[in-house]
Parts: sequence; C-alpha cells; structure tokens
Amino acid sequence: MLSKCANPSCDTPLHYLRDGKVFQVEMMNRPVPIDERKPLRRVEHFWLCGPCSESQTLSYDERNGVQVLPKAQPRTQALMRRAAAS
Ligand SMILES: [Zn+2]
Repeated sequence: MLSKCANPSCDTPLHYLRDGKVFQVEMMNRPVPIDERKPLRRVEHFWLCGPCSESQTLSYDERNGVQVLPKAQPRTQALMRRAAAS
C-alpha cells in the first residue's frame, strides 16, 4: 500500500493525498492458469509527494516496470528561454 513517495530518492511519508499526486497504474499480468482465479489485470496505486509531482511523473511499461521520470514542462522551458533571451 502507499506509504511514501514513489520517487526512490525521496523519503517523504504519505500523510495527505492532497499534498501530491496519485497515479493509477494498470499492470498487465502474464496469462495464468484458469484454476488460479486471479484477474488478468491488476491495478496499483503510486503516490508522488507535492514537490516531486511538480517536476516528475510516473511511467509504467512491462519491461521496466514503474519508473519515476522527469516531467516535460514546455511552459517552464518557454519561460526559461524567454528569460535567457532578454
Ligand atoms: Zn517525493
């Protein structure tokens, strides 16, 4: 269950969901025998704390699993370019 920020290099404990951002990740399991009555699809939740969710986002793929990645911030980049130009 969610207990701390999903960013491995951040140890912020989860106190209030509103402080950050919750990600719902659908994980596709490999096919299992029918007698193991598990759903093929499993949903897990991850939480990024406020500061982390401002600059980072969560990504999932079958090969790498869940990863915390820098968020693309075109607006911030545009502002930075403008500041650099002046
Ligand atoms: Zn964090």
